[in-house]
Amino acid sequence: MRMILTGSPRRLLALASSAALTLAACGGDDTGSASSDAPVVATTSIWADVTSNVGCGAEVPALIPAGADPHSFEPSLQDRELVDGATTVIANGLDLEEPILPLLDVAADNGTNVIELAIDVDVLMPTDEHDHDDEDHDDEDHDEEEGQVDDDHGHAHGDGGDPHFWQDPRRVSGTLDTIATALAANSIDTCVDEYRAELESLDAEIESMLAPIPDDARVLVTSHESLAYFADRYGFEIVGTVIPSMSTMAETNAADLAELSDEIERHGVEVIFTEEMSSAADAEALADRLGVAVVPLVTDSLTDDPDTDTYVEMMRHNAGLIAEQLVP
Ligand SMILES: [Zn+2]
Repeated sequence: MRMILTGSPRRLLALASSAALTLAACGGDDTGSASSDAPVVATTSIWADVTSNVGCGAEVPALIPAGADPHSFEPSLQDRELVDGATTVIANGLDLEEPILPLLDVAADNGTNVIELAIDVDVLMPTDEHDHDDEDHDDEDHDEEEGQVDDDHGHAHGDGGDPHFWQDPRRVSGTLDTIATALAANSIDTCVDEYRAELESLDAEIESMLAPIPDDARVLVTSHESLAYFADRYGFEIVGTVIPSMSTMAETNAADLAELSDEIERHGVEVIFTEEMSSAADAEALADRLGVAVVPLVTDSLTDDPDTDTYVEMMRHNAGLIAEQLVP
């Protein structure tokens, strides 16, 4: 998956050191097998991997398999069985897993411990940058729609927080104790200190990969609003998104795309970062028109590719692609 190896020596060095770390990294790969009596399951492949690592490689199946979009995934009968057999479900929260919330609600009613990791996180609220002077996005309507009171099960439904907090390894680190407590309650050994150290070195590695990017190039255009936490942690500004929403299920429209074109030209943006698992047709058409590149990242779900089949690999992969594009 790594592309162009011509480039600055610095870039080659970054790739080489990233490859070395890739070899050294260990990770649980017991995610995604859907038939098991695992006591702890996770909603997404990313949280299944993190939870497995905290559990010293314990088997933690993902309800939403690698490669599937959590915003739109429809659970199968097999997923229901997986949840029925579990005592604990590790979930993201903040409406990320919207289509499987009914399933989680039933599980919680039946006594399953459904843990939303968002409770441990300093949550970012979306900017309304994309909504200004757009009659379709009247702020008051918006708040009313999305600001519903918590439901019976106390999900933080629609408090409007951005769910993509795994894009910041420090925030992920902040969830590890909760995960470890849940695993220990199921008599599963934990390796929380080891995994926290791995996340700390990942964080430092990403920081140094991105360090050569000059301030005026620290702008990102993405497909949906998936990288706000990454931008917050590593000092980038998201100047626009093709789908002006925190969900991939939202629609884009001509007015938003026209506004995005202006932003891209104003900031001299040369690349749109899309996502491998959702349609990039609008982004590709726009990039074509503006003569900018399209580079797919892996954001909301792991894949079966060895470059992106663990959380640590996925983060390193994305940072590498961003550095490749933005380091002069
Ligand atoms: Zn997303």
